[in-house]
Amino acid sequence: MRLHWHRTDLRPSDNLPLSTVDSEPILPVYVFDPQILDHAAPPRIAFILDSLETLREWYRARESDLLVVRGSAPEQLARLADEYDADAASWAQAYSGLGRRRDERVQERLDAAGVESHVVHDHLHHEPGSITTNKGEPYSVYSYFWKKWRDREKRGSVPAPGADRLVSPGRDTPIPTLDDLGFETPEATVPDGGYEEARHRLNEFCSEPIYRYEETRDRPAANATSRLSPHLAHGTVGVRTLHDRVVRAREEAPDDEAREAVETFRSELAWREFYHHVLYFNPEVVTENYREYENDIEWRDDPEELQAWKDGETGYPIVDAGMRQLRAEAYMHNRVRMIVASFLTKDLLLDWREGYDWFRRKLADHNPANNNGGWQWAASTGTDAQPYFRIFNPMTQGERHDPDAEYIREYVPELRGVDPDLIHDWHNLSLTQRSRAAPDYPAPIVDHSERREAALAMFEQARGEADDG
Ligand SMILES: Cc1cc2nc3c(=O)[nH]c(=O)nc-3n(C[C@H](O)[C@H](O)[C@H](O)COP(=O)(O)OP(=O)(O)OC[C@H]3O[C@@H](n4cnc5c(N)ncnc54)[C@H](O)[C@@H]3O)c2cc1C
Repeated sequence: MRLHWHRTDLRPSDNLPLSTVDSEPILPVYVFDPQILDHAAPPRIAFILDSLETLREWYRARESDLLVVRGSAPEQLARLADEYDADAASWAQAYSGLGRRRDERVQERLDAAGVESHVVHDHLHHEPGSITTNKGEPYSVYSYFWKKWRDREKRGSVPAPGADRLVSPGRDTPIPTLDDLGFETPEATVPDGGYEEARHRLNEFCSEPIYRYEETRDRPAANATSRLSPHLAHGTVGVRTLHDRVVRAREEAPDDEAREAVETFRSELAWREFYHHVLYFNPEVVTENYREYENDIEWRDDPEELQAWKDGETGYPIVDAGMRQLRAEAYMHNRVRMIVASFLTKDLLLDWREGYDWFRRKLADHNPANNNGGWQWAASTGTDAQPYFRIFNPMTQGERHDPDAEYIREYVPELRGVDPDLIHDWHNLSLTQRSRAAPDYPAPIVDHSERREAALAMFEQARGEADDG
């Protein structure tokens, strides 16, 4: 018998370690490990609990069950292997430094108990080290990575194991609640979890919105992206299932423009893999700058401005809308993530690690690879980052990507009755104009032009180019 340890693969089908390592009977297990929970946050746990319910239903419908236990993963897995006389265990490869160290401990513990470990690459199409420069080094520039990723053949989806291969644990282990696990109810309405929801979302997205992705993906009010990110983060959809469906959409595309839109969507999937490779080869990036500057970057320390950013009270409407969407939905649109990240690092001059940590706590889709990649890109400290002198202007960004202020007015109720022209000109209005238009909405907490100059000076100092004369 083999234990299958479900982690960020909360689905029965297209699950390589679950279905493909051998033909032994399988006992599925989920472990709530306090060491892993230490790094978790309520939105993600809520999503996981929801997903576990549907996964358990799937097993129960096949006269098996998901065994849910709490405690240290190495100890629990060794104990269950002993209790059920299992001689093997399988799980999907982790890519972060922390995850890989934990897996080594599990493997050592199982080795000692005479249990064979099958650790399988499952979350990515192409495992780290398989897409490299001609010299065999990992890429630090996305565009070259993308060309190879795009043209490389991809494995197709694999079916779920048949009911005849599943074992019943012979006892009922309830799924704990958030409270049982010591987490508060999230302030956000967390997206629905579960493999069925993921499948539904994927099919809906690929039936039509994918063909408009190119023109709509940067318009947050259009809500036109796939919203599959929490499903990819927690593995309620397999990457092969997703890709197979996207390729089918490309084959069925009505015209060249629609086909190109599908290709643009595929390029976003490649960003995800690129950042996972970066993290795999550079595990220290979760806390350290990827890019080395001559001197340390002298980030400011300003708890009040940081709090205003977290609360969506900066007086920059598009920034505040994004930060409030995050708190309300445990999600934020990609364009707006870029804008709020630029604002934190280049307008408030606060360390990207503050932003990364806030996103880690608030997003249902947080994963260290994408979250870190996004933050370090915006802060000009990452691989393939935007150059330090290209600083987003939050007013023009808002005007360009949310011209009618639909997104802004959805998340910032104080601005609901206000004309979009006034909203996009908020920083230029007089005190009287502002209090007449939206008395409860704050004035900008900083002057963008001044802070832009300060950010350039901060980076020039870090580059050893500061003019000290
Ligand atoms: C500062 C910052 C932090 C971010 N943190 C995260 C995070 O913690 N988790 C996360 O999944 N994404 C993160 N992203 C990337 C991106 O914003 C989200 O993946 C995307 O908004 C999710 O919405 P969607 O599923 O509708 O995306 P779609 O546009 O439908 O894209 C499909 C999938 O492609 C991947 N993807 C899309 N854009 C990117 C990107 N820029 N980088 C890497 N992968 C991408 C995601 O897996 C996404 O689900 C971050 C971006 C920034 C700028």
